[in-house]
Amino acid sequence: MSEEMKVQDGQIVTMDYTLWVDGEVVDSSEDTEPIEFLQGAGNIIPGLESELYGMAIGDSKDVVVASKDGYGELDEDAYAEVPRTQFPTNIPLEPGIELQVQDESGHAMSARIAQVEDEIVRLDFNHPLAGKELRFAVKIAGIRQPTEEELQHGHAHNESMHGYDDEEDD
Ligand code: ZN
Repeated sequence: MSEEMKVQDGQIVTMDYTLWVDGEVVDSSEDTEPIEFLQGAGNIIPGLESELYGMAIGDSKDVVVASKDGYGELDEDAYAEVPRTQFPTNIPLEPGIELQVQDESGHAMSARIAQVEDEIVRLDFNHPLAGKELRFAVKIAGIRQPTEEELQHGHAHNESMHGYDDEEDD
């Protein structure tokens, strides 16, 4: 591994990161492991990926990502009103409760309860971080060439994931 390597398209980058939203840490690689991704392949959110070009191993940076370059703006149409009677009685109907619902073709979707009224429950299908400004502190931990397989798949294969058969790509 060369010290001269800089982040550019087509390289596998290993990165430590902490993410703050509204002044709170919502995600950090300190709790898990650094993320590994293929730069330029859209593996991470675009507003962060575009700020990494030219960084070298050991470089750190604070990056502020506007909601439109992160998880998108709040979509006012991404709400649905569902009669209370359609909810199982074992689900607490309170704002903020997350649940899985099925669309008409049976696909599971995540939603949060936005509002509860006498007859109806208003569900919010926006990503929980939609409409939020994202503040990242990142540090480049590694840069390497991708394997042939990683290039074909368009993402990194993490060495710590031995036994993981990557079946989603088959
Ligand atoms: Zn793969």
